[in-house]
Amino acid sequence: MKFFLQSLKDLTIINKFAIIILFKQMENISKNKQNLSEFELIRHLTDKIKIRNKETIYGIGDDAAVIEYPDKQIVVTNDLLIEGIHFDLAYVPLKHLGYKAGIVNFSDVYAMNAIPKQLIISIAVSNRFSLSAIEEFYSGLRLACDNYQVDLVGGDTSASVKGMFLSLTAIGSAPKEQLVYRKNAKINDLICVTGDLGAAYMGLQLLKRENELFQADPNLQPELSGYDYILQRQLKPEARPDIIKSLNTEKILPSAMIDISDGLSSEIIHICSNSNVGCKIFEDKIPIAHETAKMAKELGIDPLICALDGGEDYELLFTAKQKDYDKLKSQSGINIIGHITNKSDGTSLISKNGTIIPLQAKGWNAFSNKDAN
Ligand code: ADP
Ligand code: MG
Repeated sequence: MKFFLQSLKDLTIINKFAIIILFKQMENISKNKQNLSEFELIRHLTDKIKIRNKETIYGIGDDAAVIEYPDKQIVVTNDLLIEGIHFDLAYVPLKHLGYKAGIVNFSDVYAMNAIPKQLIISIAVSNRFSLSAIEEFYSGLRLACDNYQVDLVGGDTSASVKGMFLSLTAIGSAPKEQLVYRKNAKINDLICVTGDLGAAYMGLQLLKRENELFQADPNLQPELSGYDYILQRQLKPEARPDIIKSLNTEKILPSAMIDISDGLSSEIIHICSNSNVGCKIFEDKIPIAHETAKMAKELGIDPLICALDGGEDYELLFTAKQKDYDKLKSQSGINIIGHITNKSDGTSLISKNGTIIPLQAKGWNAFSNKDAN
């Protein structure tokens, strides 16, 4: 675990050695046991935490945290992450899990066009988890809070009979008129997506393939060179506060927005059904990184399927008025992929050769039970 931490210190270096240690993480988790009381454990995990936002009046240390948002609406979101259902420690280092758990929550707040400021975490672990394993998780979580300027203001700690359970609540705010819901997309609005899609799914498939080979023959070195991008997208996802900021600077207020956690198809269908509209998106406009396409080809999967049904990209999908076309077109990191139509037109993908394909909400989820075990 020590070496593992060193090689993934800044959570960006993905190397063969780190991945081998990752595949062995399950055996290593319970080494170096230390018996701490719940009180000592909480103090140990939280004593380095500092408050940075003026909206946080009081953080950890009393019966409840105190926050203040004058003249703003408050956005609250929660995520439950269960070992074996939502994540598998054979594929995610604990430090990365901590980072990712924070990001997933912040991303939901950004998807409301709001800014996350506070985070609350409840954690339950079995005695399989050593103090250093929990510390690793917390170091990733703290790093996410540092990078996104969020205050960790409280939580709860418990033992579990088996496995790791996490519940995270992020709190943020926005002026009332700035909040963006899923329900207000209008006919003819442009459909935009940030970044590129499908890479996180390809990263997971690569980790799974190399893990299987490694478990069958531990002398085999995982073949990971040239795959940094897709691994990073799986192991160290980022949310898109930069987009929220630039939309605000450009005075573009999306009509509807959602973050892409389950794949483009299922998210666009959420917007359309909540807004009572249909959509047309165009295959040749969907952004797919060449690393994603390369891996998909290697595995014999259509890269389009990765973008439509692959999970965990944490990009933003939003709709905006036609009048903003020029501004959106010139924004880096934003792709216009289609437009909103009448509900009766359905939700469709126009393929490269012009065929109309109905979108389906497969919502492939990298965290799903079937795939985690
Ligand atoms: P209580 O008995 O009132 O639940 P706790 O002893 O559980 O109090 O918590 C004491 C303080 O530590 C509170 O501010 C709580 O929010 C915080 N806290 C407890 N567990 C965690 C944790 N895992 N991470 C961060 N803060 C925590
Ligand atoms: Mg408590």
